[in-house]
Amino acid sequence: MDGLFATRMHNTQKSFIREILKVTLNPDVISFAGGLPNPRFFPVREINEAANKVLAESGENSLQYSTTEGYLPLREFIARRYQKRGLQVDADEIMITNGSQQGLDLAGKVFLNKHDPMVLERPGYLGAIQAFSMFEPQFHSVPLLEDGPDLAYLETELKKTSAKLMYIVPNFQNPSGITHSLAIRKELAVITDRYNTVVVEDDPYGELRFMGQELPPIKRFRKGVHILLGSFSKIVAPGMRLGWICTSSDIMEKLIIAKQAADLHSNFFSQRVVHQYLCDNEIDDYIAKIRAGYRNQRDCMVAMIEKYLPEEITSTKPEGGMFIWATLPPGMSSLELFDQAAAQNVAFVPGTPFYIDGGGSSTLRLNYSNSDEEKIEEGMKRLGSCARKLMAHGN
Ligand code: PMP
Repeated sequence: MDGLFATRMHNTQKSFIREILKVTLNPDVISFAGGLPNPRFFPVREINEAANKVLAESGENSLQYSTTEGYLPLREFIARRYQKRGLQVDADEIMITNGSQQGLDLAGKVFLNKHDPMVLERPGYLGAIQAFSMFEPQFHSVPLLEDGPDLAYLETELKKTSAKLMYIVPNFQNPSGITHSLAIRKELAVITDRYNTVVVEDDPYGELRFMGQELPPIKRFRKGVHILLGSFSKIVAPGMRLGWICTSSDIMEKLIIAKQAADLHSNFFSQRVVHQYLCDNEIDDYIAKIRAGYRNQRDCMVAMIEKYLPEEITSTKPEGGMFIWATLPPGMSSLELFDQAAAQNVAFVPGTPFYIDGGGSSTLRLNYSNSDEEKIEEGMKRLGSCARKLMAHGN
């Protein structure tokens, strides 16, 4: 098979998470591994009604080809929502994509040549590492501290590498649950402007804040090239595969060309149905329900971590989103803990795949949005006992 595949495929690992998800297909497994929203909150009846209405009122049109930018009324809806949050954005500055994941691919296509240096957070979102790997950049990572990236480190890295692009998830990051503070957001904008870095701000979780104060997108503080990604996956349903890119019209021109080449446009029927759903339902009421549900699940997991895990294991306490990040005592391997836990029918994601430099061997990601409180308690009880056994054996 040597020489059959393009070189870019050599550097792109099969997602480790997909491999782990295979373990979790067993219905007896309590899984904190996936990153799935809670399906209990999917608006099945409302989407059914919206789909019927779209078909009845504009059937032929909704099944036709459409524009690359996406359905204008849906883009206007997104722009208005940003305006309410203090971002002056016009519908021309929004393009609909197949989830925010496609935004990552298109940003890579438009900005990255092979070997271009780029920066991301350490740990970083695995799907972004995968998407950007396709363009064979030179990855550099900046450690995440409690309230965002280490900015002194970032500045040194930008000075040293002249990185062209920086990728960040400022709200309830996947995998760590960490949020960039207001001060970090402002300073990060200044630093990236100073070095003319293109910033890709990925924000699929921003609306899932269940405690603390809402913070403005970093876009608000930037002067340079900025790509803000959003998604309906966590606030409506991921199966609709709809997200968006928000950027200035000069940059949008290039992204439209890349999108056209990739797929002409995103599923138009899906866009029409989600738009109809948004017209007929109060999305904020729906988001409030998701937030309340995730808050309960998060509170339960935090309490069960305190009750069952050895105190040497530290963890984040996110104010929103879907993930908690845990750190084992030095020298203890989360891969070994994974093997022990899998034997007890409990799964999580060991931290190493989130590090582009092979670090993170004693870290792990726990998802709480897709398990009920009973499962969270039972899972943490089993995980605690596996961790104690490993610690007793000197790992
Ligand atoms: N970015 C981040 C940080 C994510 O966690 C996810 C979903 N796991 C995505 C992008 C992709 O989401 P989607 O394509 O469904 O919008």
